[in-house]
Amino acid sequence: MYTDTLLHIDGAWTSGARGRTHDVLNPASGTVIGTVAHAETSDLDRALLAAERAFPVWRKTSVFDRYKLMRKAADLFRARAEGVARRLTMEQGKPYLEALGEVNLGADLIDWFAEEGRRAYGRIVPARADHVEQLVFREPVGPVAAFTPWNFPINQVVRKLCGAVAAGCSVIIKAPEETPASPADLVQAFIDAGMPPGVVQLVYGVPAEISSYLIPHPVIRKVTFTGSTPVGKHLAALAGLHMKRATMELGGHAPAVVFADADVDLAAKLLSAFKFRNAGQVCTSPTRFLVQRPAYDRFVEGFVKGVDKLVVGDGLDPATRMGPLANARRVDAMERLVQDARECGATVLRGGTRIGTVGNFFQPTVLTNVPPQTRILHEEPFGPIVPIVPFDTLDEVIAESNRLPFGLAAYAFTSSLRTGQDYAAGVESGMVSINHFGLALPELPFGGVKDSGYGSEGGSEGLDAYLNTKLVTRAGV
Ligand code: NAD
Repeated sequence: MYTDTLLHIDGAWTSGARGRTHDVLNPASGTVIGTVAHAETSDLDRALLAAERAFPVWRKTSVFDRYKLMRKAADLFRARAEGVARRLTMEQGKPYLEALGEVNLGADLIDWFAEEGRRAYGRIVPARADHVEQLVFREPVGPVAAFTPWNFPINQVVRKLCGAVAAGCSVIIKAPEETPASPADLVQAFIDAGMPPGVVQLVYGVPAEISSYLIPHPVIRKVTFTGSTPVGKHLAALAGLHMKRATMELGGHAPAVVFADADVDLAAKLLSAFKFRNAGQVCTSPTRFLVQRPAYDRFVEGFVKGVDKLVVGDGLDPATRMGPLANARRVDAMERLVQDARECGATVLRGGTRIGTVGNFFQPTVLTNVPPQTRILHEEPFGPIVPIVPFDTLDEVIAESNRLPFGLAAYAFTSSLRTGQDYAAGVESGMVSINHFGLALPELPFGGVKDSGYGSEGGSEGLDAYLNTKLVTRAGV
C-alpha cells in the first residue's frame, strides 16, 4: 500500500543520479515505511532543461486543451482518493477522514484552476488618439520552482502546481521529503491525464541545496514557497537578488477572538473542533484565544469539554480525531513551549505532555493565566496548544491582534454586525473569518500580510501569480 517514491523528471519516474534515498517514517509508530529518492545537481539540471523545453509546448497548448487535461487529472485523482488518503495518513499522521478531505479538496482545486485558466482575460484600454489601439495581454511567467511543506502534502502542492499549469507555465516541485508519496500520487494523476513531459516535475533531496540551485538559475522565472517565516525571508531575498517573481505563504499566529455578545457555547464547540485539526499544524490555525472577560469562564468550560472528547491515536483508527504530530521536531517544540509556560506561571488546564514513547503523540493542551511574556503568545506553536487570554475592549483586542509581526488569518465570534465589521477593518490580516471557519476554499484568495508573506494562492489572484502583463500599443489601425 505504501510504496517508495521516485523523482519525476522529463516524463519518467527515476532514481537520483547516485541512487541515494531518505527513509520515510510513519509518525504514529516511528517505523520506516518507505524511502524517497534524492536529487543530485545533475538531476536538477535535467529537470531544468526539460522545464525549459516543455514551457513553449505547454504555453502554445490551447487554453481549452489545458482545461480538459486538468479536469481529467482532477477526476482521476478523485477516483483514487481512498488509496491516496491512506498513504497520506501513513506518512503525515492526520486522521484518515481529514486526509480524504484533503484529497477531495485537492481535486476541487484542480477543477477550479482548470476553469479559471480559461478566464485569463486581457483588456483593451481606450486610446487618447485616433487610430491607436492599446491591448493588454496576460502571458505565463515561465518555468516555476515551487517549494512545499509537510503539513498539507497534497494541497500545498496543488495550489502551486495548478496556478502554474493553468496559466501555461512548466513547474518543478520540491515537495516534502517527510511526506513524499501523496504528492507523487497527485503528479501521477496529471501524467495519466496526458501531461506532456517536463511540464510537471517532482524532486526531493536537501531543501536548502535544491532552492539555492533552482532559484538563481536563469531558466526559473518564478519562485513560490510555503513554510516558516525565517526560511521564507531567506528564499525571498534570494529571489529578489535574482529578480525573480515570488509568492511567499509563511507562518501565522491567528487571533481567535470571542466577544461577550457571541454565542459563546457555539464558539467554544467550533473552536475546540477546529483548533486540533491536523493536530494544530496549520498555518491558519487559531492560536491566540482572546475572550472578552464576561464570557471567559463560560468559554473555557465549553472549550475543555470539547478537548476532553478528543480521541488521540493512529490516524488510520476510525475512532481517532487527532493524530500524532508529523515529526519528532514538533513534539520537542511542544514540550519546550509548555515548559516555558509553566516557568512563566501559566496554568496547564489540560494536557501538557507527550503521550507514550512510540510515535509523535502529544496531548491536546489548554493554558490559562498566561502571562504576556510567555513564548507561546509570541511564537507560532504549530501544534495542539491553546493559550486562552481575557480582554476588555474592542480597541484592546485589535491592538493585541496586531501586536505580532504575523498577519495571515484572524477569527472573531460576535452577534453584532458592527463589532464584526470594526474588528475586520482593524485587524492586519490577509484573511478574516467571522462566526465560522470560511477560509481556504478554491475560489477564495489565500495569503497573508506582514511576516506572513505576500501573494495569494487561491481565487483569481492564485492565477495572477503566474501571469505577466504585456502591453501592445499600435498606431495606424
Ligand atoms: P523549517 O522551517 O526548516 O522548514 C519548513 C519548510 O521549509 C519545510 O517544508 C522544509 O522542507 C522547507 N525548507 C527549509 N529550509 C529550506 C530551504 N533552505 N529551501 C527550501 N525549503 C526549505 O522547519 P520545520 O521543522 O519543517 O517546520 C517548522 C516550522 O515551519 C513550523 O513551526 C511552522 O511555523 C512552519 N511551517 C509552516 C507551514 C505553513 O503552512 N505555512 C508548513 C510547515 C511548516
